[in-house]
Amino acid sequence: MDISHAAVYPYTQEGNVSEREQMEFDAVIVGAGPCGLSAAIRLMQLGEAAGREMNICLVEKAAEVGGHILSGAVFETTALDELLPNWKQMSPPVTTPVTGDDFYFMSGPDGGIKVPNIFIPGPMHNEGNSIVSLGELCKWLGEHAESMGVNIFPGFPASDVIIEEGKVVGVITGDMGVAADGSHKPGFEPGYELRAPLTIFAEGCRGSLGKQLESQFNLRAHGGDPQHYGIGIKEIWEVDPAKHEAGKVVHSFGWPLDSHTEGGGFLYHAKDNLVYCGFIIALNYSNPNLNPYKEFQRWKHNPKISQYLTGGKRISYGARAVNKGGIQSLPQLAFPGGLLAGCEAGFLNGAKIKGSHTAMKTGMLAAESLFETLQKDGPFNTGVDYLNRIKTSWVYDELWRARNYAPLLHKFGTVIAAPLIWIDQTVFRGKLPFTLNNPSPDYAALTDISNAKPIDYPMPDGKLSFDLLSSVYLSSTNHEEDQPVHLQLADASIPLEQNLPKFGEPATRYCPAGVYEIVEEGGEQKFKINAQNCVHCKTCDIKDPAQNINWICPEGGGGPNYSGM
Ligand SMILES: Cc1cc2nc3c(=O)[nH]c(=O)nc-3n(C[C@H](O)[C@H](O)[C@H](O)COP(=O)(O)OP(=O)(O)OC[C@H]3O[C@@H](n4cnc5c(N)ncnc54)[C@H](O)[C@@H]3O)c2cc1C
Ligand code: SF4
Repeated sequence: MDISHAAVYPYTQEGNVSEREQMEFDAVIVGAGPCGLSAAIRLMQLGEAAGREMNICLVEKAAEVGGHILSGAVFETTALDELLPNWKQMSPPVTTPVTGDDFYFMSGPDGGIKVPNIFIPGPMHNEGNSIVSLGELCKWLGEHAESMGVNIFPGFPASDVIIEEGKVVGVITGDMGVAADGSHKPGFEPGYELRAPLTIFAEGCRGSLGKQLESQFNLRAHGGDPQHYGIGIKEIWEVDPAKHEAGKVVHSFGWPLDSHTEGGGFLYHAKDNLVYCGFIIALNYSNPNLNPYKEFQRWKHNPKISQYLTGGKRISYGARAVNKGGIQSLPQLAFPGGLLAGCEAGFLNGAKIKGSHTAMKTGMLAAESLFETLQKDGPFNTGVDYLNRIKTSWVYDELWRARNYAPLLHKFGTVIAAPLIWIDQTVFRGKLPFTLNNPSPDYAALTDISNAKPIDYPMPDGKLSFDLLSSVYLSSTNHEEDQPVHLQLADASIPLEQNLPKFGEPATRYCPAGVYEIVEEGGEQKFKINAQNCVHCKTCDIKDPAQNINWICPEGGGGPNYSGM
């Protein structure tokens, strides 16, 4: 039998594959985000309806379901309505309906102009939606999935794919107890082989296994645009009750970004005097001096934002990449033995800045195709079935209508694109008779630092803005120190010999956790990787101009420990 692994991990260097315990399931699902959890629940529902007992395994790299989830989030309940029609009677953490949308064009550091409601593109209106913590929602979905009998394994990252005779037959969970030099520490435990006829990959944006599967199965052979991304940085604040307006949604564009750098801020008034505020910057920015973390910090000083935060207390911090390529950037969604769903594939609706509902729905559709496959006695083309289900669903219609949103921003810059987007989305409802493309990958966008404009960031004041390390502290990030570095460099010389002279090594600025540093040791410059600080946002894997950094799963349970993100 031909057994190959999609990736060779340092974890498995000493591991003997034949010693691994094997477990067989009807389906394996990777990732307990809204997508993976919805897939699991849907599978159990289908099994129950057909009188078939289902044995489902869902692995999650965070120590607890929700612990690595970071989102805005304004939540559209469309998919939840379909998945659990009686969800309102199930004490869901969806308790803060949106009461109003404020949209600002920030003209500078001292103020902004409120965009009249009529000029806000249709998909950005949030009536009927709710402000949620997606982490809490996932926790709740996880409890429901477990009550239906799904085997959820938190703290078990899927670190490798098992491929036999050209077909995915499951995943291997990460070994526990491997030292930094690859040797086995006392208490070493090899990962498990989790096997199933079909695996649903739902790792979210820039999944580490998804990235390997893309190249292993050539999932972009059909052409299309490369995936495009943004980095989202978020904080949770407890604010003065007098300044809190539960349900209020605030978005901004413009300052502090120049008109050629796409992005903007959000501030959502959630329950219990909490405010979720954050900033998303498209990772096709060109100025290597840009520091997404510092852009976010200075944005909070604009009076349109500081009016809510002043006097409040920051209680949490985190960051996560987000897809923005839309329908033009979808890879092939199926391959022998596996399906991609949710943000793993890139199903985020950029015009709405929402991907939770589409992640849930595509997880459900993947589950339906998977179940259909299990039920068939003869040959059945799961891939064609899944694609048909996607193409006839509301997800496809939404993404198709939103397809020109991101390319318009990319082509014309925020200020000129804004009215064009309004015409496209509000007047034509996304049905303009052409499709724009963005064929250049984000990592190739940086200009040489010698031609780039320096950016002078203000010092943090410790009240509204903060230094990076105190922020990372609030993410409760923790990794076992003595383990192989999970940020692998294909060529260790590139940071200092190529990236530093050409781009001033941008990793020292784009990483929102201060993982990468250039330090002097013994009179020599060294590229230092503080892997224990990593919040698993995946930005380095996306933005490194030489595509030299490969993010792989660290030991199970490591990473941020978000609560209520
Ligand atoms: C700053 C920001 C703001 C956003 N705002 C909104 C919003 O307001 N509304 C909205 O609808 N959407 C919003 N989104 C998008 C939304 O969060 C995503 O579309 C959604 O979370 C995607 O769900 P998913 O299940 O596909 O992936 P994720 O939510 O990313 O979940 C993936 C899960 O898989 C786990 N995982 C990953 N790799 C592995 C592995 N190898 N083994 C085991 N487990 C693994 C992760 O730990 C995680 O728990 C926002 C995103 C960001 C970053
Ligand atoms: S090391 Fe990479 S994945 Fe980790 S926080 Fe920094 S940019 Fe994000």
